[in-house]
Amino acid sequence: MSAANQLYQEVILDHNRKPRNWGKLEHASHHAEGLNPLCGDHIFVYLRLRDASVEAIGFEGQSCAICKASASMMTQSVKGKRVDEAETLAREFREMALGKLDPSASGHHLGRLTVFSGVRDLPTRVKCAILPWHTLHSALHSIARASTEGDADPVPGSGLERAGHA
Ligand code: ZN
Repeated sequence: MSAANQLYQEVILDHNRKPRNWGKLEHASHHAEGLNPLCGDHIFVYLRLRDASVEAIGFEGQSCAICKASASMMTQSVKGKRVDEAETLAREFREMALGKLDPSASGHHLGRLTVFSGVRDLPTRVKCAILPWHTLHSALHSIARASTEGDADPVPGSGLERAGHA
């Protein structure tokens, strides 16, 4: 087993045993449901946004190990980040999982998330790994819609609008 594979196995096991930010978030401002019928993954992502940043995040649901570990690491990665930074991570993760982004190249922000780069060689697991990020994206977009419907934008030009067009 390669070092990369071994690290991947250890990360998946660890996050399944102790999923971070597990559970429904109290006072969530946004949430979304994610479904991957191919595998049966069914998750919920809850967000509390403040000043265009992810102040708090939680998730729960029924899913396979890869999806659960990906969701757990996703919540760790975006907690405290600005919405536009979270959207950038979601796009980069998706590109990496689809083999369109080289995790060894510089210029991306994935950090420890590159442990999931191996799923590009496992077509049936790509959707499991991406689902939490899709669900995050959906949750974030409900804020983009809300802000265009006349709600006061707390920080105009801070990235909420850009996130909506990413
Ligand atoms: Zn799955």
